[in-house]
Amino acid sequence: MKILLAASEVVPFAKTGGLADVAGALPLALEGLGEEVIIVLPRYKTISDSKFKIQRLKEDISYSVIGNKIKVYFIENDAYFNRDGLYGDKSGDYKDNLERFSYYSKRTLQLLKEINFSRPTVTMSGGIPPKAEKPDIIHVHDWQASLIPVYLKALYADEDFYRNIKTILTVHNIGYQGLFPKEEFPKLGLDWSLFNMEGLEFYGKINILKGGMEFCDIINTVSPTYSEEIQSKEFGFGLEGVLNKRRNSVFGILNGLDYSIWNPQTDKFIARNYSSQTIEDKYKNKEDLQRLCRLPIRIDVPLLGIVSRLAEQKGFDILAEAIESICKMELQLIILGTGDLKYHLILEEKAKKYPKVISLHLKFDDVLAHNIYAGSDIFLMPSKYEPCGLGQLISLRYGTMPLVFKTGGLADTVNKDNGFIFDKYTKEELIKTVKKATKAFENRERWKEMAIGAMQYNFSWEQAAKKYLQLYAKAKSQ
Ligand code: ADP
Repeated sequence: MKILLAASEVVPFAKTGGLADVAGALPLALEGLGEEVIIVLPRYKTISDSKFKIQRLKEDISYSVIGNKIKVYFIENDAYFNRDGLYGDKSGDYKDNLERFSYYSKRTLQLLKEINFSRPTVTMSGGIPPKAEKPDIIHVHDWQASLIPVYLKALYADEDFYRNIKTILTVHNIGYQGLFPKEEFPKLGLDWSLFNMEGLEFYGKINILKGGMEFCDIINTVSPTYSEEIQSKEFGFGLEGVLNKRRNSVFGILNGLDYSIWNPQTDKFIARNYSSQTIEDKYKNKEDLQRLCRLPIRIDVPLLGIVSRLAEQKGFDILAEAIESICKMELQLIILGTGDLKYHLILEEKAKKYPKVISLHLKFDDVLAHNIYAGSDIFLMPSKYEPCGLGQLISLRYGTMPLVFKTGGLADTVNKDNGFIFDKYTKEELIKTVKKATKAFENRERWKEMAIGAMQYNFSWEQAAKKYLQLYAKAKSQ
């Protein structure tokens, strides 16, 4: 199978969140299963020539290679992508995001005709290979790539080359839809007839994700529970109707975790490597983390870790209400994250008030993140909704018991045997569950057994990629 993966961020080139991890890992797993994959993403300012051994293909197209021979094509356009941020800066989203990602989507489709899939034969003068190979599947991710299925059907349907290419749209978080004012519609280069209920219109605005959902062959989300949840009013962010209409084409596949990066046995960032056989060594990491975070070095006190965007989605509304009560318990709490200013301020105030309990780090820091996963006893992730979630998968592998709200991917991966889970989204339930977890921590032998058990769970990309292959086959046979 020939698969093109289109995403606006891909590890190791550009990352703001979990999407990049998925878009970087799934192609490697598919290649491992013998499939042919290429990736297309915008060439952001941060993607440097020397770091990624980038080669030039055409004036506006360069490429790099990951895995064995996965070509990663970069679409270059200085006016759109040569900026510090991917989607915005301190003052918010870039004003021209519609144009930026519409350009990216169109150029991706055109590029297919100019290359020979994974064997670029294009000349600098732009000569088109005589019989360019094309993908069977275009797998697009989130709103930034959602115009690809729209353009494919609306602009290119009559061209022989594009016929029979199937599209799958993976929705990583339905809260981000790419909404723009109606007045910008002409910039898309689409006929106004598509600005309607069955097309890109959403309550008088343009909704790019909705366009993708209407035009793609299969809609997919990143966990089975989330695929059900988003068909309800509570979780659908207004798109539940579209999903209901297409419910026979809506699926959920749990993300895998890249165990070559997230493995306590080989992790280069942590003080002491360990496995389920040498779990005692995990506590060396706990001490090291307490030292690093300037907390009292105490092995007998449960250490709670958070690595997260500071946003309501991640549970910070109930956490902000509960934190005072939590700080009065016998525990320590390390928080790493950035996000809403509101939560920065609340957490700063609490960290000042409880310096022996809270260690606060308002930044993005990969190394510290690894140390928190390894050194903590409990990983706090009370997300209000969670499409899949990587934090709980990572913490399981590190023998750090996840404490989560029962939603989306958290409900699919955490249970009472491998963590702590509450099913009413209130500060009281959160406090109660933290209490329960700290109480359970007192039985050190039992705790160790639980941690060892948690480390056995396997959410590999190979498993996930096999399920994606089934989905691709389904799309192809339609
Ligand atoms: P999201 O909704 O933010 O994508 P996920 O749980 O799916 O949530 O993925 C978040 C990823 O980003 C995880 O790998 C997590 O460890 C990482 N991460 C989040 N915040 C930070 C931070 N401040 N520093 C380092 N890593 C972070």
